[in-house]
Amino acid sequence: MNELRRDYILDRWVIIAEERKKRPQDFIRVSKKEKPKMCYFCPGNEHLTPPEIDRIEENGRWIVRCFPNKFPAVILDGSEIKSENEILRRIPAYGKHEVIAETPEHNKNLSDLSVEHIVKIFLMYARRINEIKKDKKIKYVFVFKNHGEMGGASIAHSHTQIIGLPIIPKIIMDEINSADEYKSKTGRCIFCDVLNLESKSERRIYEDKYTIAFAPFASRFNLEVWIMPKRHLNFIDEMTNRELKSFANSLKIILGRLNKSLNDPPFNFYLHYPPDDYDLHLHLEIAPRLSRFAGLEFGSGVVINVIPPEVAAAHYRNETECNLI
Ligand SMILES: [Zn+2]
Ligand SMILES: [Zn+2]
Ligand SMILES: [Zn+2]
Repeated sequence: MNELRRDYILDRWVIIAEERKKRPQDFIRVSKKEKPKMCYFCPGNEHLTPPEIDRIEENGRWIVRCFPNKFPAVILDGSEIKSENEILRRIPAYGKHEVIAETPEHNKNLSDLSVEHIVKIFLMYARRINEIKKDKKIKYVFVFKNHGEMGGASIAHSHTQIIGLPIIPKIIMDEINSADEYKSKTGRCIFCDVLNLESKSERRIYEDKYTIAFAPFASRFNLEVWIMPKRHLNFIDEMTNRELKSFANSLKIILGRLNKSLNDPPFNFYLHYPPDDYDLHLHLEIAPRLSRFAGLEFGSGVVINVIPPEVAAAHYRNETECNLI
């Protein structure tokens, strides 16, 4: 029988559609990546991006490179825009919008990079977030990755986007508020409780001493995965070297498995962490984009997922050469 499941944290419901159940293999992509004639993110074309902000080098060449988004959604502009009344509210789209090219190699996916290289990408995330948030008009710096056309990526070269916004996004605030409420009732962090629970469940995908990856109970996306440090911490720069390596390794394993088993499908991922002075257990959510949201999803927020997370977790655990527990 189909069932409605509620998200651990948010008041968000999913119909796990056992009746329409599909196998992950039903989503294998047939088409192959096409090589573009010219890529703005490739070495040699640095002059075609807006002026570089930051880079990490190895042997005299960049391996991670950050520059402003050529078509930013928000800009540093001091103009004033005022709401006329309580109904028509507006503020300036003030902020910073940057791109991080994750590798100089055009044909490499994030999961093809070494663990050490992925650690450096995370360190660049932390560096840019810390820098951007110095501007007190910016209330939150959101980190996200779009991969593949369905994932919203207009450029195939593997990259992440960082956007500093003059507001705190609702999902982040809802997670913080809900976790606070749980804490005041139980004295514990809900994410710590979730990871303890899921480490014993059939939704567990991978874990080592420092990190766990699992398919969330109320997965909204087919093959959705959450990756979390086991220790309660808020931000990347609180992680020890070992924790960072373990986190990077988990991401490499999960994305590698997703990529290999479904032939490079589109996905998004995003980092959830708290703004200063708030508490939220850091986590990364991976959302493969294998099916489209339609009327029910857009109009009601209720989502139908045809791959139960238990099936998704088995898919990630199985047939892999990686050392999954
Ligand atoms: Zn390229
Ligand atoms: Zn926690
Ligand atoms: Zn989250």
